Amino acid sequence: MSIQIFGMAVSRGVAIGRAVLVASSRIDVAHYFVPAEQVSAEIERLRQARDAVVAELAALKADLAPDAPPELPALLDVHLLLLQDETLSGATKQWIAERHYNAEWALTAQLEILARQFDEMEDDYLRERKADVEQVVERMLQALARASGRMRPSLDAGLRNGAVRDFGGEEPLVLVASDIAPADMLQFKRSVFTGFVTDVGGTHSHTAIVARSMDIPAVVGAREASRIVRQDDWLIIDGDAGVVIVDPPRIVLEEYRFRQRHSELERARLDRLRNTPAVTMDGHAVEMLANIELPSDAPAALQAGAVGVGLFRSEFLFMNRGDDLPGEDEQFEAYRAAVIAMNGLPVTIRTIDIGADKPLDRLSTAELRHGHALNPALGLRAIRWSLSEPGMFRQQLRAILRASAYGKLRILIPMVAHLSEVRLTLQALARARQQLDDAAKPYSEVELGAMIEVPAAALCVGSLLRHFDFISIGTNDLVQYMLAIDRADEAVAHLYDPWHPAVLQLIAHTIATAARMRRGVAICGEMAGDPEFTDLLLAMGLRSFSMHPSRIATIKQRILRADTRRLAALLPKVLEADDCATAWAEALRTAAP
Ligand code: PEP
Ligand code: MG
Repeated sequence: MSIQIFGMAVSRGVAIGRAVLVASSRIDVAHYFVPAEQVSAEIERLRQARDAVVAELAALKADLAPDAPPELPALLDVHLLLLQDETLSGATKQWIAERHYNAEWALTAQLEILARQFDEMEDDYLRERKADVEQVVERMLQALARASGRMRPSLDAGLRNGAVRDFGGEEPLVLVASDIAPADMLQFKRSVFTGFVTDVGGTHSHTAIVARSMDIPAVVGAREASRIVRQDDWLIIDGDAGVVIVDPPRIVLEEYRFRQRHSELERARLDRLRNTPAVTMDGHAVEMLANIELPSDAPAALQAGAVGVGLFRSEFLFMNRGDDLPGEDEQFEAYRAAVIAMNGLPVTIRTIDIGADKPLDRLSTAELRHGHALNPALGLRAIRWSLSEPGMFRQQLRAILRASAYGKLRILIPMVAHLSEVRLTLQALARARQQLDDAAKPYSEVELGAMIEVPAAALCVGSLLRHFDFISIGTNDLVQYMLAIDRADEAVAHLYDPWHPAVLQLIAHTIATAARMRRGVAICGEMAGDPEFTDLLLAMGLRSFSMHPSRIATIKQRILRADTRRLAALLPKVLEADDCATAWAEALRTAAP
């Protein structure tokens, strides 16, 4: 029977594929795809683990004390029978052979199917046999872990080590999980999934942002999805409407396939705008910049027609690294790679924005000292984190400065709020330059920018701008902190409202102040890549937009059709309105030529 699950749309388009469930099992295992040529060896691994468990249970049975309760040998017999049962071992083999799942994943996938069947049984006695299957699977997992000479790997280890990309199957796959950390999303960039669904998350969480950057359809906050969807179900992920359809009827499937083809055509049409300069109808040039997470994203930025990188989220270099964080040389290589890939176009590197929904694997010095943050979004994140790790901060600044010898680089400081933070940042930068001078390492001039993400910084942007060459408004956080809404929490996601008059007034004030002081101002939050806001931001005077490469063509199309003089005239009344979204739509409609 077909089921619809409603969540939040975070990345547009339609994906159709077989569900791959991770993280739904109570047992932590690695998930990775086995290369085709190793499938038989993987099945052999499973067989050996089963034989080991059979031997283990037989030994246990033989060693039972004569006065042991009579249920015990009977129980061991049940477990031995289960081990031979086709519904467990045969079906598990099939997951490996057909889907190329690793043995642990195949076992837990099959366990899930059997557990559901047990749950649906009327008979209490039979229903309780589920525990036996779980115990048998647990033993098999232990045997597999022993055989590979390591502890059972953590749930996401397989995803993290990138093994997911080795899949050679034919049917498209979509990922369903309770939650996916931003760091794991990064691995999916190179993986096989054509869409994903999570139970939790908000539209502006970093997980959602990375999904958008991958340009694959995604729905988050679909609460029950990982419970309702079963391994291998056919799913439609409607990333425009935020709906997931499980087991769709043929007619619905056809309708969605039609929509898929239509959006491919639309995309091909927009691609033709790639080399067209973004100039409004009344002749204002608009800078289209790209947001990237890794140097390897730079070619996609160029391909999309970006004229530079407006936001390189450098913290992604530090994720999935355990204790082995990248040192100065490794960072330098990464920044230099981005600069070289951008071929003379400017690259804006944001210093590490760790904390909140992007934790490091290892604890920071402050965390070791004070324990975990009570409220990470309001705690030690971004520049606060860097200033609490002065050695690491200077190391990053030196790496960026060294890369500046190879192209046009700008440094962007996240989450600035206090002038004292500005002072300390300038001191750190001066010291990093001095250290490079002492070591005779070359570097060039770099511009220094501040991210405006905290309402206090936006209100006092005039005083901040006395110390910075440019600013970039991080609307994702600005909305979060302005409205006191955790951007990653789906329970309050409906209140996360970039159209709130207070938010828009503050953005307008920030842009106007920067323009008055003749300093560069960009927006690098998700609003910049959302066509609903393009006209409004142009009306506010914004001329520099930074977004995921996949959004550039759509926004450029809006810019090419815009007349900024006409739009600017509409702005004051809209900013005063109670409902800015409706007021803006109304103003555009009545002013249409
Ligand atoms: C923002 O807050 O708008 C921003 C661009 O930074 P991030 O999303 O990485 O916090
Ligand atoms: Mg931010």
